[in-house]
Amino acid sequence: MREVILCKYGEIILKGANKSWFEGILIRDLRKRLARYGEFEVRYNQSIVYVEPQNEDCDMDGAFEEAKRAFGFASISRAAVVEKDMEKICECAKEYLPQHLFGKRTFKVEGKRSDKRFPLTSPQISAEVGGAILEAMGGRIKVDVNNPDVTVRVEIRNDLAYINSGSHRGAGGMPIGTNGKGLLLLSGGIDSPVAGYMIAKRGVIVEALHFESFPYTSERAREKVLELAELVAKHTGRMRVHIISLTKIQEELVKHCEEDYFTLLLRRFMMKLATRVAKEKYCNALITGESLGQVASQTMKALAVTDAVTDLPVFRPCIGMDKEDIVTIARKIDTYETSILPYEDCCTVFTPKHPRTQPEIEKVEAQEKNLDVDALLEDAYNSLVTHDIRVYC
Ligand code: ATP
Ligand code: MG
Repeated sequence: MREVILCKYGEIILKGANKSWFEGILIRDLRKRLARYGEFEVRYNQSIVYVEPQNEDCDMDGAFEEAKRAFGFASISRAAVVEKDMEKICECAKEYLPQHLFGKRTFKVEGKRSDKRFPLTSPQISAEVGGAILEAMGGRIKVDVNNPDVTVRVEIRNDLAYINSGSHRGAGGMPIGTNGKGLLLLSGGIDSPVAGYMIAKRGVIVEALHFESFPYTSERAREKVLELAELVAKHTGRMRVHIISLTKIQEELVKHCEEDYFTLLLRRFMMKLATRVAKEKYCNALITGESLGQVASQTMKALAVTDAVTDLPVFRPCIGMDKEDIVTIARKIDTYETSILPYEDCCTVFTPKHPRTQPEIEKVEAQEKNLDVDALLEDAYNSLVTHDIRVYC
């Protein structure tokens, strides 16, 4: 039996004259994603992409899960393809659908006749296929036209008939590579991988910058961050991770500055370094996992003090979210379990007992006068190493 995966466009439907540019990037991304699962033909027609396996070796389950991760699609489904003959359609429905309806309590069939020459009307198609399903399932499922567990769509198109086994939500968003490149400040926590995912979903290629403070942070903490980057890259295809050491900066801060300002001063160093890396790597924005009021360095005033040292836009997709909302996304994208592994972060070593929550920028700048900021930045920048994590591209 012929089976295809159908992927329905999301937002790019609205792109008017630019649609074909978005479409090209979307299809290229999908082809790259699917290459790991076998040889597939990928073609598109009227805002639907048809993915058809070319031989028996194709992993349809793997390809289906992968298509659900692809940014740019609103919904994904699997469908059997059959000749436009009612008897053949019913036979195919009986053979194909039970595996997909197993364990479900109710269903309905929605017939749709794009080819108006087809002899049955849409309601007649629904009734016939519904009857065939009830027969095949032998009382294990019931019809519910109002609130079914599964909606089976039978579509008579110009070429063939498609028996769709129920539609699943796609990842949504915009195809990767349609919205420039951004630099994510990636810690080992819960929030920053989520922030990276959310911005990547808007079509942005995301590179990451991680700060470590060896030996105050461990080798294992670095591995954890690389693992997180790989988990995000399962959705985005690839992630370059730059790592910079803040050890010397932190030691100098402890020696020469007031404790209450440590975190803010450190965050300004992080922003300055991130801005330099972003510009070198052609990233047009910084991305962080900050959420308003979550900790002392994330009050409005504290954020203003850190933003004052960068001229790039800073995207903070978690800014208005509660921890619970962020955790829900972290679970969905599969980063949560790794994020909660207990390894130290450079922000959690040398933390002040009473960090400033309402800092005055003049006082922060006065503290910086105790340091040779430029030399420290140069030194830290020279410690940069890069890991290139590739999942499908
Ligand atoms: P996360 O926000 O990722 O869960 P966290 O809450 O422990 O970790 P915070 O101290 O709240 O991190 O830091 C706020 C933001 O600053 C992070 O979301 C991240 O974007 C950035 N950040 C913190 N530590 C680091 C680090 N070691 N390297 C790079 N960026 C960092
Ligand atoms: Mg946080």
